Amino acid sequence: MTARIIDGKAIAAELRARVAEEVARVRREHRLTPGLAVVLVGSDPASEVYVRSKHTQTQAAGMASFEHKLPADVAESDLLALIAKLNRDPGVHGILVQLPLPKSLHTETVINAIDPAKDVDGLHPNNAGRLAGGLPALAPCTPLGCIILTKSVHASLEGMNAIVIGRSNLVGRPLVQLLLNENATVTIAHSRSHDLPQLTARADLVYAAVGKPEMVRGDWIRPGATVIDVGINRLQGDDGKTRLVGDVAFQEALNVAGAITPVPGGVGQMTVACLLVNTLRAACAIAGLPAPAV
Ligand code: NDP
Repeated sequence: MTARIIDGKAIAAELRARVAEEVARVRREHRLTPGLAVVLVGSDPASEVYVRSKHTQTQAAGMASFEHKLPADVAESDLLALIAKLNRDPGVHGILVQLPLPKSLHTETVINAIDPAKDVDGLHPNNAGRLAGGLPALAPCTPLGCIILTKSVHASLEGMNAIVIGRSNLVGRPLVQLLLNENATVTIAHSRSHDLPQLTARADLVYAAVGKPEMVRGDWIRPGATVIDVGINRLQGDDGKTRLVGDVAFQEALNVAGAITPVPGGVGQMTVACLLVNTLRAACAIAGLPAPAV
């Protein structure tokens, strides 16, 4: 059996098109242009690529995009002052501080300074707490993308056995909450879990969010399972070229799984598309409008 490859690129493009339609509608009907502010501190090359892609895609969806680049040695008080200004700015509905921050800055302090209503990365404790409590919340973009990709295969996740490998605040934990909201039965695994292959073999849905290249092997996976690979690992090939691999041994898994996301072209594509969704939702909520149809 060869698994169906879940086309994250196509699904993300379709989602972006639906966001653009809804943005056009709220602009037309309510004179509201959703705005996203992205704050980049320092010049990490990977972060610069992500920020550029966010800027382009935000504009392509018909939203306003505001970029703020600060030097790596910026004083924390100056960064907090910028966030306070963006919190007050009526043209800004989403604020994203690109992580990781330079070590001299306290990530928690910075994230806590963002108005939870504009916290489109879903990392503010208010949003994380609301999500954990089963209340409506802005949820982190990568886990939102994972759910959409899973639902491209299974219309309902109710009663399915899922395993989430990884428990970070950015991916694993919020993904667990979103799966619970879908009525899946969830196992949460991490670096201290015993017998990961056996735990994984019970799962209909496997989510790998570890950051270890090709850690999840083909023979861990239950035949026919759906595998969502969140990992983005850069490996240096023998030819000196860098290639991206996920946390799942893709070629092995391909022969066992029912459906699988590739890396690249899977989850990564969904993250920015879901950021646009969150910005649109935040803009409508702040303006007191009904939730958009996306
Ligand atoms: P973190 O490093 O914050 O978390 C990794 C998690 O994996 C931890 O919970 C850790 O456990 C667990 N872990 C580490 N080693 C093992 C092991 N041997 N067995 C089982 N669990 C283990 O990473 P992130 O959650 O931020 O990211 C995970 C991956 O997803 C990375 O490759 C990252 O690049 C990628 N990513 C991709 C995104 C996308 O858009 N596609 C967005 C964000 C991340 P413990 O808690 O015990 O330490």
